[in-house]
Amino acid sequence: MIVVMKQTATEDNIQSIITKLHDLGLDAHLSRGASITLIGVVGDKSKFLAENPQLMPGVERLVPISESYKLANIKFHPEQTVIDVNGVKIGGDHFTIIAGPCAIESYDQLMESAIAAKKAGAQILRGGAYKPRTSPYSFQGLEEEGLRYMADIRKETGMPVITEVTSCKAMETAVNYVDLMQIGARNMQNFELLKEVGKSNLPVLLKRGLCATIEEWLNAAEYIMSEGNQNVILCERGIRTYETSTRNTLDISAVPVLRSKTHLPILVDPSHASGIREYIAPLSRAAIAVGADGLEIEVHPNPACALSDGPQSLNPEDFKALCEQLKPYIQLAGRKF
Ligand code: PEP
Ligand code: MN
Repeated sequence: MIVVMKQTATEDNIQSIITKLHDLGLDAHLSRGASITLIGVVGDKSKFLAENPQLMPGVERLVPISESYKLANIKFHPEQTVIDVNGVKIGGDHFTIIAGPCAIESYDQLMESAIAAKKAGAQILRGGAYKPRTSPYSFQGLEEEGLRYMADIRKETGMPVITEVTSCKAMETAVNYVDLMQIGARNMQNFELLKEVGKSNLPVLLKRGLCATIEEWLNAAEYIMSEGNQNVILCERGIRTYETSTRNTLDISAVPVLRSKTHLPILVDPSHASGIREYIAPLSRAAIAVGADGLEIEVHPNPACALSDGPQSLNPEDFKALCEQLKPYIQLAGRKF
């Protein structure tokens, strides 16, 4: 439920509602917009409603929220959320590109990727240290050794870094090295992991599950937010369909649909969506056109030798050309890059 305050409501009016909610054991989430102040209420509201809150000073009206996700809901927070990842902003009028290899393979490989990413204009470096591979015999990642390379390269390049955490144990290690945690498609409904990252204060990039509906995805975000961590970024990375000509099917309509339902930033990952290098440019342009807040793209110094996801990885030269090509589209979309 949302308590919509009158434009004339005083600070005392707002604070006394919040105090009342806390006294009744409810969570109150204050959202101040340019012209409207809202208090989102989470918990069992029966006692609060019994006190006729619509008559309390400064209250304009009460709005019920029928969706099961509340904190992620745009009704709770009508202004778009902008998330600060160690100085790099995601959301609002910013356009953010996260780039780097699927898996961290060596210091030199990650450093070359970082230099390529930075030179092309990407603001955040990605690299997998714990790899959720389809086959247990495929390369599983360098784990903490890879994270050490990430932290060293972060220091040398100044780029914030992101890695996927595949378990609570991986998360405990990763928080010491990275600026942003990724929850991969395969773990989007790993509720224990979601709750654990929700207790952390590092921002979280939550990828869409392979077969997840938008509603399930927003509820996964809610799991994180309900534990206290409000810094969630959504990333559409393609869904499973009957189509086999691409690795997944990019659900481009997810971007405007999400925009109408949530205030959280929305990125698109054309690399995992297509699985094929040559489709990354057109899908990136489509993502910009439908209003994505940024992209996550796999870049490898030598894709032919990549230990993971080589066919969808761009080499430094192609990534630079892609970013150059995207600039006018980003500008046309009214974004800063
Ligand atoms: C990845 O980003 O490397 C990855 C495994 O992505 P997803 O979880 O979307 O498959
Ligand atoms: Mn990958």
